[in-house]
Formats: sequence, C-alpha cells, structure tokens
Amino acid sequence: MTVTRASVGEASALILAGVVPLSAERVALDAALGRVLAEDVASTVALPPWDNASMDGFAVRASDVRDASAAAPASLRVVGTIAAGQRASRAVAGGEAMRIMTGAPVPSGADTVIRVEDTATEGDRVLVRDARDAGRNVRPRGEDVLPGRPIVFAGTLLGPAQVGVLSSVGAARPLVVRRPRVAILATGDELVPLEEFPRVEAGERIVSSNSYSLAAAVRAAGGEPVSLGIAPDEPHGLAERLRAARGCDMVVTSGGVSVGDFDYTRTVVESLGGTLSLWRVRMRPGAPLGYGTLFGMPWLGLPGNPVSALVTFELFGRPLLRTLGGHRRPHRRAIDVITGEAISLGAPLTHFMRVVLEDARSGAPVARLTGAQSSGMLTSMGAADALMIVPPEPLSVAAGTTLRAIPLDGDLGGGTVFPA
Ligand code: AMP
Ligand code: MG
Repeated sequence: MTVTRASVGEASALILAGVVPLSAERVALDAALGRVLAEDVASTVALPPWDNASMDGFAVRASDVRDASAAAPASLRVVGTIAAGQRASRAVAGGEAMRIMTGAPVPSGADTVIRVEDTATEGDRVLVRDARDAGRNVRPRGEDVLPGRPIVFAGTLLGPAQVGVLSSVGAARPLVVRRPRVAILATGDELVPLEEFPRVEAGERIVSSNSYSLAAAVRAAGGEPVSLGIAPDEPHGLAERLRAARGCDMVVTSGGVSVGDFDYTRTVVESLGGTLSLWRVRMRPGAPLGYGTLFGMPWLGLPGNPVSALVTFELFGRPLLRTLGGHRRPHRRAIDVITGEAISLGAPLTHFMRVVLEDARSGAPVARLTGAQSSGMLTSMGAADALMIVPPEPLSVAAGTTLRAIPLDGDLGGGTVFPA
C-alpha cells in the first residue's frame, strides 16, 4: 500500500519504522572518530586507580592543620616526597607531612593535600599557614569510573572525549557500526558530470549538482557514497543503472519522481521488484518525494530540484542513514528561533525556509530568510545556517514569532519533532 500526501511527521515516522542498525566491525581507536559504538563498553579498572592528589603540595592529616593560620601556623615534619608514578614508602603519621605532586598516590594515613602556596618550608619542617585545604584535594579511587560499570553506550557517536574515555579503559579496538553504503543515482537527460563542463559552457547541459551535493551529504552524515552516475530519462537505461545499487545499504535517486511526461523513477523501481510505500509529502520544498524498498534495501526517491533534493535528504535521508549507522539519536537537535520578518505562505504546506541565524543579546536567535526561496536556487542553501520550520497554518506569520529551526551544522543528536 502506498501512503500519499503524508505530513512531514508521518513521512518521517514511516521512513524510519523498522530500520535497524547494520552489522558491526572492530576498528583501531585512532580510526574511531566519527564512528558509532555498537556495544556498551564497561571498564575493567577503576579510574582514578588510586586516591591521588589534585594539587602539588603536602599530604597531611586534616586533624593536624584544622586550626592553622598565618598567625599560628601548624609545623609538621616532612618525611618524604611522592612524584606522579611513584608510591609512598610509608604512611603519614600525626605531626608529619609528605611532599606530593599532582596525580601521585596519597599515602595511607593522609586525608588532605595542602596546596604548596599555603606553606613555607623550614629545614625538614613545613609550616601550614591556612586551614582552607583541611580534608580536601584528594581525588578518591574510582570517582570517575568503577570497574564493571558501562561507561560509553551503544549508539554513541565517538567524538574526542569518547575516544579519550575508551583509551583510558583500554578499548584499543572498539566495536563500531559499519558505515552505510549509499548508492546515489541522478536522473535527467539534461545532466552531465563535471568532466563534461564544456557542454555546460556551450549552453547545452547543466551539471548534475545533486550527484555531488548528495555524495557530500552522505559523507557528512557518516555514510559512504557509491555513485551510480546519471541515468537517462528512459526506463531501460534507468533500470540498468539502478541494478548497480545491489550490495549497498540504501539507494537515493534524484529527479524523475514528479508527474512530468519523463518521470519514470517510480515505475522503474516497481518494475525491478521494488515497492513504493510513500509518495508525495505535504511540504515545500520537496513535495514529490518517494520512499520504498529496492533489492531489499530502503530507497529514497528525492525530487530533482537541487534545494529540494538536499532538504529532503536532510529531513529523511540523513536520519535514515544515521539509523542504519547505529546512532541512538539520528535527528538533528532543533532550536527555537524568532522570525526576523513577516512570512506569508503560498499554500498550507509545512515550509522549510533557508535562514541565516543572528545571535540575539538574550533568548533565541533571530532567523532571517536567505532571500528568495525558489527550490532551484542552490546558492541560497549554501548561505543558510538553518532550515526554519513554518507549519502549514496559519498562512501568515508575523515578525517576532517563535518557530523551530534545524541548524545545518553540528552533530548533537536530538529529537526533531515535526508539526503534523
Ligand atoms: P525533475 O525532478 O527530474 O523533474 O527535475 C526538477 C528540476 O531539477 C529540473 O529543473 C532539473 O533540471 C533539475 N535537476 C534534476 N536533477 C538534477 C541534478 N542531479 N542536478 C541538478 N539539477 C537537477
Ligand atoms: Mg528530470
């Protein structure tokens, strides 16, 4: 059954329903940046592994320094030194202090590290001139990580901090989800690859910019683009090209999904045994969107207009790719914005408007349109910081209204909730 004219929210739910992460592989930790963890990782060790000093100073007993002041310093006998990487040779007794460096194990008997700035040494004795550190500056064993506890979870995108945490617990080859391989096919007799740019200069053809922008979008989302080139507006040639998608994890086509005389993508997908579960979404840009399966993998039929193709990939293709790629939070995090100008919609559709965000002195950023919102103007997409979501109703939105927007940079996962 094909759902037609779905709302953006319905389309998003339908496309993501039942999508499960791909298989996993182990990679060296230094190649794990940007990958998604496929299993919870627990530690076998405590971190820190021992009670240690958080300052350079003197390890002492709090009871010996509790009443210390500049006027009446506590005088303690210095019985040794512990550098980072060393262990104390003996315990600290009452009336004693041990010189200690940041990170070094606190000797037994001591419960306090007095910062060096509050001390003065006199022969083999140290004078403590302030009581503020009594009972402080000891980082207890296991305060960060306890053995046996999971500390990084399946579905986490590995950034610099996660890579550091994994290294600290010895995870040299973390298990990560395979990068989704995404077949990309452009359709249209008017299109040429970059190699044929002279035909563009001659006024005969246009560059298939979707081939490049979608490959880049796939890469930016953590996938591996597989180019199937450009198919002609003719069923046999189109079918031929689409067959090469076998072996990938997802297929993205652009163009030919409208109702023009040469729009064959849908029928060719069905003739190859594929299914069409969604056609057309109540949105602008991007209304003529198709979704289904082909050769057992998800197929997204994006519209051909360069802005529509990128916007629909952003809204539906990226979360699909990231779900396949194991992300726990496949959507971008939407934010509140204040519209900088009045907006009037030409039709009751959910609009995704290209906006530039200006930081306000307080509160939400102000969103200004990049200019005309024609779906053929790819430069306006390049100028945009975010897609502002304008609900289908009311048709007029006053300047100063709070709306939601999807920033086009940043990888923080979130729960983009689309209006009905
Ligand atoms: P279509 O969806 O095939 O009707 O195409 C809609 C518009 O998008 C037409 O102006 C096409 O020339 C243009 N278009 C289609 N595919 C691409 C592409 N791969 N790169 C750039 N423009 C395209
Ligand atoms: Mg076309």
